[in-house]
Amino acid sequence: MKITVLVITVLKTTVPKTTVLKTESDRYSAVNIIRWLSPFLLALVILLGGCAPRSSDRVNPVSPEHPIRVVATTSVIADLVRQIGGDLVVVEGLMGPGVDPHLYQASEGDVSAITEAELVFYNGLHLEGKMVEIFEQMEGRGMPVHAVTDGLSDEDLLSSAQFTGNHDPHVWFDPGLWKKAAQAVGTVLSAHAPEQAERFAAATAAYEADLDMLTAWARTSLDAIPEDYRVLVTSHDAFGYFGRAFGLDVHGLQGISTVLEAGTADVRDLAAFVAERRIPSLFLESSISPRGMEAVRAAVRDRGFEVRIGGTLYGDALGGPGTGADTYVGMLRSNVETIVAGLTPAS
Ligand SMILES: [Zn+2]
Repeated sequence: MKITVLVITVLKTTVPKTTVLKTESDRYSAVNIIRWLSPFLLALVILLGGCAPRSSDRVNPVSPEHPIRVVATTSVIADLVRQIGGDLVVVEGLMGPGVDPHLYQASEGDVSAITEAELVFYNGLHLEGKMVEIFEQMEGRGMPVHAVTDGLSDEDLLSSAQFTGNHDPHVWFDPGLWKKAAQAVGTVLSAHAPEQAERFAAATAAYEADLDMLTAWARTSLDAIPEDYRVLVTSHDAFGYFGRAFGLDVHGLQGISTVLEAGTADVRDLAAFVAERRIPSLFLESSISPRGMEAVRAAVRDRGFEVRIGGTLYGDALGGPGTGADTYVGMLRSNVETIVAGLTPAS
């Protein structure tokens, strides 16, 4: 197992040479050392060049009986690869429902999964704040690691006032851009398994048609909100692309990353804006604590205006099984329904 090699290498380089792991407590200490070192293990994958068997290493051609082993970082990307790959892929998503990718750190299990995968997909654009540099280096070294946003142009991307020089990573909220991500995934899968290229191309085309239908439905639904109320106030700036695609003015309490916490001035300024514009609802996000938005709500009330919590949106993670939001299409539908209900005044 490659991961064993990694761990032994870590121990060799960090544990004094006199240390021999004979007793149970010695072994327990070793486990602690490994746990402490886990953020560095991913970096070691690069140093050892240990990532992923290549397609040429395969004994069997890709088929439902011998699917491609894929790792994806976020649940949104895991769903995308499943939609395009169908039964020709087995996808392990590292981040489950409700997990914040900006703050996520690779675990020992993740490092193991990455080293064993044939293909790794990540978002890029600094979404996976603690992992993205490592992935970029792996991709740069020709390892089978791919950012689904690689094919997007400067015109596609929104810039970020918060991080000068960086783009807003939340591209999936524009289904038009997510079609391009779907094409990128299809291209990578086809290059990995040319014998199944026709299947991947057909699945990509079908999924693009699904996203076109979703876009048309979302546009019709959101256009029903009175123009003055087309203002989306959420926990963090995940919805910039959504606002651009569907004509909503978007305000997040935190910036495009959750690494920086909102301060009292942010709460005060946002509350002043909400009270002045008499915005009917604030929205929570599934991967972020509700405390910030509750503080905004209280500050709005202090200004003599009552704003509702309009519901919880799926921001950086899909919903769990049974929520109806455990696919990208289901997630976007759920968000649009919540937004329309929250911003449409009772008649
Ligand atoms: Zn985010």
